[in-house]
Formats: sequence, C-alpha cells, structure tokens
Amino acid sequence: MEPTAVQKTTRRVLTRRGVVWLGQTCNQRCYFCYFINRIEDHKHPEHAFMSLDKACRIMDTLRYFYGNRSVDIQGGEPTVYKDILPLVSHCAKIGLYPTLITNGLMLAKTDEVARYRDAGLRDFLVSLHGVGDIHDEVVGVTGAYTKIMAAIEQMQELQFPFRLNCTMSKPVVRTLEEVAQKAIDYGALAMNYIAFNPFNDQETGRRRTDTVPRYSEIMPALTAAMDRLEEAGIEVNVRYMPLCLAEPRHRKNFYNYQQLSYDLHEWDYQSWLWTMMATQMMRDGNPGPPFRLGAGARRLYLGNAVYLRDAYERHPVRRGLKYTAQRLLARVQQLTAGKETLYRKEAIGRAQDDCHYKYDDQCALCNAREICDGFHGDYAEFFGTEEVRPIRDIPCTTDPCHFIREQEKVVLAEDQAWAL
Ligand code: SF4
Repeated sequence: MEPTAVQKTTRRVLTRRGVVWLGQTCNQRCYFCYFINRIEDHKHPEHAFMSLDKACRIMDTLRYFYGNRSVDIQGGEPTVYKDILPLVSHCAKIGLYPTLITNGLMLAKTDEVARYRDAGLRDFLVSLHGVGDIHDEVVGVTGAYTKIMAAIEQMQELQFPFRLNCTMSKPVVRTLEEVAQKAIDYGALAMNYIAFNPFNDQETGRRRTDTVPRYSEIMPALTAAMDRLEEAGIEVNVRYMPLCLAEPRHRKNFYNYQQLSYDLHEWDYQSWLWTMMATQMMRDGNPGPPFRLGAGARRLYLGNAVYLRDAYERHPVRRGLKYTAQRLLARVQQLTAGKETLYRKEAIGRAQDDCHYKYDDQCALCNAREICDGFHGDYAEFFGTEEVRPIRDIPCTTDPCHFIREQEKVVLAEDQAWAL
C-alpha cells in the first residue's frame, strides 16, 4: 500500500520511538515540571545543553543500535538549543524522524514553523496547559498563551502535523473541553491528557494539594472532552490514571505503564532506559555504552551512572567485555522469553519500584488488576485510594492490550511500513 500522510490502525506493536533530553534549560517555569530542580539549578550537570556532536552520537545510537525510527527531542525546551535545526536535519538524514516537544514560545515568530519543516522535522508535540490566563499561570510566563496559539496557527496554515499535550493540574481541569475544542479547530493529530506525571525529581512541596486534583474531580470534564474529541475523530490518550476511573467506552484510551509501549507516540523502554541515564543527559562526558532490555539492564540503569562512565573510560577493555556480554545475553533472553514479556516486566518495575504505585484492597476484586498500575504512590499518600471501582464486566485478563486494542491510532507515513 502506498503510504499516505496519515493512516489509522488498531494494530498494536511495540513503539520504535526514542527520546533524548538535550539539557534542562528552559524559558518557562511550569509548576508541575518534573525537571524543575535541574532547570532552576544552573550548576546541575544536566542543566546546560550538550554539544551538537554529543547529541548526534546519541541519535546515531538510537537509530543504529536500538533500531528506533523516530525520536522525541526535548530540552528543557529544545527550540532554545542553538543547534536545533542541524540536529533535526541529522535525525531526518539517518531515518530517525524527529518530533520536537515544545512549549511553542519560540515558534510564535512568522515563518518559524516553516524553518523546522524545511530542516526535516516530522511533527511538533505542543504543551498546551489550559486556555488564556490559566495556561500563563501554569507555565509561569505572561503572554505565553498568545505565543503558543500563534505557533499553532502557523502549523494549521502550513498543514504541518502537530499533537497536543495537556497536563491536568487543578486550574486546568475546568478548561479541558476548551482545550479539546482547540485540538479540533486547529486540526491536531492527537490529544494527550496527563494526570499526575510520575517521573523524576519533583521534591515534596512541588506537588501540592492545591495544584493536584483528585481523579474524581478530573473525570467529569475529562469524559466530556474525550467524547468531543472522539466524535471529531481525533485520537485521545490519557496517561497514568487507574483504568477503572474511565467510562467503559474510554478504557481503550487509558495508558498505564503496561500499555505505554504500544502507543506509537510513546517511548521505547529499551532505548529510554539508556537515554535517561545521567551520561546521556549531561553536557559533559561521552555517552555511555548502550545495552539491551534483559540480563540486568535495570541494574545497569540504576547503578551510579557517573561511575559507570568513568569506569568505562578508565578500563575500556573490561567495560567493553561486560557490555558485549550483556548485549548477547539480553538478546538471547529476548529471543527465548519474547521481547514483549521483557517490556512488560520493565513496565511493572517502573510502576512498582520507581513510582511506588499502590493498589486499594478492593483491587483484589478487579478483573483488570494484572494490567493496571493502580495509584501513584504520592497520589495515594495525598488522597488515598478509595476512588477505585473494580472492573467486573470483563473476564479476568493479563493482556496489556485488552482495552487499547480497540483504539484507532494515527500512523504517519514514515512509520506505516512497520506499524500498519
Ligand atoms: S486494579 Fe484497582 S485501580 Fe486498577 S482498575 Fe482495578 S480497581 Fe481500579
């Protein structure tokens, strides 16, 4: 079949999208940001942007070692990175189709979107957190909403593909339907709603009960927004909320860790584990050696990354042998256990070990228990877990795609050969 710009599919395959953080430098101060400590600390080793050479080497590893076909480029804010256009061109040249995750501030200037298109960018993932003053309040910049909308208007005019991310902090909840309408009016390819982002370095005190809503406060507005988007034929995804909070017709749109690697717009656990190590996020030093999921990959990731890099440089032969052995053993494990089994194990590890997800006692009665993360540990501490509604209207399942298999997902032309 001849690829067309956009097709839709219900086929679920493991994503081949990588992610790269260029440095935690940003022109906004979103209060929910999970990297805010590194963004505000100019001395943090991950604050400053890395060189173009280092970024290109990481991209080459994603493409040629991990077999990724697309990449989400993040900063901080990647449009602030002075070499962003050459980096975009490099990614396009090696067949690692680039997306920029952006707050849109720098794209408001006339012709800015066209420059990225001409450099080889495939699409934008724009962070729109509410409408009007609410967006400005959430991102900490007066006038940010005017600029982000100017950027989105350019995308619409040029028919350049874009998707939207919306983080559902407390003031944003009442605007969810309006955000959905923006996605419809401007022709977004997909709309992602993110509840309580469970990553990284937010210290206690950043996530507060006046900014984090209860799931039950979110659900009425979210359900109405989802209905509106689905009716308009726009893909909608909700991340990191217990599956039982969804209306049955929307369970297919809910992504917990176990579902994430079947979302083509989400990140490949295998390369993600490597790129989120300090050696791949710091300005200084060389990228560390890549490794595969399986055969102790998680231990390599959890080890002292700086030590790994230094030791690697001090004892190249010994390190080389260690990583060669890991790659071989992991390859064997992937062939024998199945790659999807290892991805699922990684998903469960992230939910339980990294984010301390908790189940309610009633979850024991739920037939989706094996494919649901439950409640993020911090959320459970704030609000408890009594919002659960055990799912009893399906047979007991261990299939992470049980619900999401029904969802139609957008596939851009470059991915159609392997994803359709
Ligand atoms: S396991 Fe618990 S939190 Fe998850 S869907 Fe079932 S009842 Fe809800």
